[in-house]
Amino acid sequence: MGVPLIQQYRMGKYILGKKFSGVKKYPLVLMLEPLFRCNLACAGCGKIDYPKEILDKRLSYDECMNAIDECGAPSSLSLVESH
Ligand code: SF4
Repeated sequence: MGVPLIQQYRMGKYILGKKFSGVKKYPLVLMLEPLFRCNLACAGCGKIDYPKEILDKRLSYDECMNAIDECGAPSSLSLVESH
């Protein structure tokens, strides 16, 4: 399945807007990990060695929404709009 036309339009508009305004570096996507804990145990990963209080950290809904707003990546716009 390809990228929907509306998403292609938003991405193109965003990139052109950044280029025309002279911005050289800008985010295209936001990868947000609201939970620090992981239930896998991949070889070589040090995450499991963190203390419980670190592993139990998680972002609130508002913190996630603020991160999306702060990032401004076009792919996160569709996530916000879907709520
Ligand atoms: S690398 Fe670490 S954090 Fe990532 S999936 Fe594997 S165990 Fe989880």
